[in-house]
Amino acid sequence: MPFQNRPHNFPLHADTSAVDDPYLAKPSLDGLVEIFFHDNLDFPRLERVQVDGVFDRNLVHSIQYNRPIMKFFVRTYGCQMNVADSNEMSRHLAARGLVETPDPDEASVMLVNTCTVRQHAEDRAFSEIGRLRRWKTKRPGRKVVVTGCAAERTKEYLEDRFPFVDLVVGAKSIENFAQMADRLLDRRETDEELDYAVPCIDDKVAAFVTIMRGCNYSCTYCIVPYVRGREIYHSMEQILSDVRDRVREGAREITLLGQTVNSYRSGENRFADLLRAVAAVDGVERVRFISPHPYYMTDRVIETMATVPEVCESLHLPVQSGSSAMLKAMARNYTREQYLSLVKKMRQAMPGMTLSTDIIVGFPGETEDDFRQTLSLIEEVQFDWGFIFKYSTREGTPAAKLESYPETLIEERHQRCLELVDRIALAKRSKLVGSEQDVLVEESSFGRTRTNYKVHINGRVAPIASGEEVRLRITNAQRATLEGELQNGNITFENFREKDNDHARA
Ligand code: SAM
Ligand code: SF4
Repeated sequence: MPFQNRPHNFPLHADTSAVDDPYLAKPSLDGLVEIFFHDNLDFPRLERVQVDGVFDRNLVHSIQYNRPIMKFFVRTYGCQMNVADSNEMSRHLAARGLVETPDPDEASVMLVNTCTVRQHAEDRAFSEIGRLRRWKTKRPGRKVVVTGCAAERTKEYLEDRFPFVDLVVGAKSIENFAQMADRLLDRRETDEELDYAVPCIDDKVAAFVTIMRGCNYSCTYCIVPYVRGREIYHSMEQILSDVRDRVREGAREITLLGQTVNSYRSGENRFADLLRAVAAVDGVERVRFISPHPYYMTDRVIETMATVPEVCESLHLPVQSGSSAMLKAMARNYTREQYLSLVKKMRQAMPGMTLSTDIIVGFPGETEDDFRQTLSLIEEVQFDWGFIFKYSTREGTPAAKLESYPETLIEERHQRCLELVDRIALAKRSKLVGSEQDVLVEESSFGRTRTNYKVHINGRVAPIASGEEVRLRITNAQRATLEGELQNGNITFENFREKDNDHARA
């Protein structure tokens, strides 16, 4: 019976013959002890369990098994930066012997990584935190950790409204999470046991690497600079070492992350140099980045994208509005015409590239004519997909002083904009039906093209390993996804039989 499935309080007779180091049998302050388990002889596992008693200081003969090693559950709201931060915090927890679980009921530590970019995201996170009061009382010792941008913005409010929260870590302090987690888990920072910690393996084929934190812009609607602070760049050495770590853990595609990711600099190096360096790391097959700012899409960056084979010809380039007047009110630092000529230049350099965007509708003062200019820009650019946001007032930003539009008007513009973006997205994907696409498999049922189209793999009879690149024939297109069949795998065989049966019946 696998260890994990044993019921709680099951008296476990562990074979600890491999344990000859006193540290391994010494319960720490929290009653945890690390033991090698041999239920799979090829793969003895070092695990941490809570014990009621250790009967021999150097050799554990029998332990009362109170609970499996501590598990943690992470709920992430918001952007890719937050996903990357969650991954980083998960790695810290795993390095402390905790194991991630997909089931909140199994978890002892619940981490809610919040977003505050729009009020809606913050509200969702707060109602989740509210529900955790009951979750926490169901088992003593459970811990609730709230992190991220809303935690930064509303730390005191959070502590007052949710006194059961054990730890609040604002977005600016994520890099200190490891020490905070040590204190939360009541462990000494130089705990010798850490040397035995099982390394966390993040086997994601497509991994994020944060290259900078913060933002030096002050777009008038945006709370990010307030909650994440000014730009801080990681060194090239640190980024390349993070990339190599992710590759060792199974990554083949790296997405570089930053709020204005292409403003990156380190000494003499600029973003284009970093792109080349990351692309040159052994094992990296695809490089992407998010979110670039139009101002920093220099000729060198475009040329690098167009000529370095590993850098994918796909870009998420937020435009926010198609009206130069609105762009000025938003302090975006470019006009409609400049954005359009940038798109033209990029398409000349990379004819097959895909382009997506962010748009805000209902910014204070946006007239019907301004809004129509946004619609006409969408038509003109023919974005492959886009995220359309209803303007949300963020306290403390310059735009918060302006009069907001009624929710009904914002909602109506949102619908009109979504319909247009979806219609174009579907039309563009439909053109791919019948074509062949190379897809890097992320999970056995889906993968992505270099141009970042998500493709579901249909009709397999055998799972495809993640990390494999397969050639698919596109059979169906939807607004946000494609479907495809393997060209010369099991599917052909399966189809052959189906078709042959139909033929026989006819
Ligand atoms: N740094 C990126 C850039 O400037 O392109 C964007 C980062 S922001 C986290 C993601 C998106 O949220 C923005 O592109 C914008 O469309 C949207 N957003 C930010 N503040 C908003 C607000 N107050 N209301 C609605 N949408 C907002
Ligand atoms: Fe916000 Fe503008 Fe910075 Fe993006 S560039 S994070 S929208 S302030």
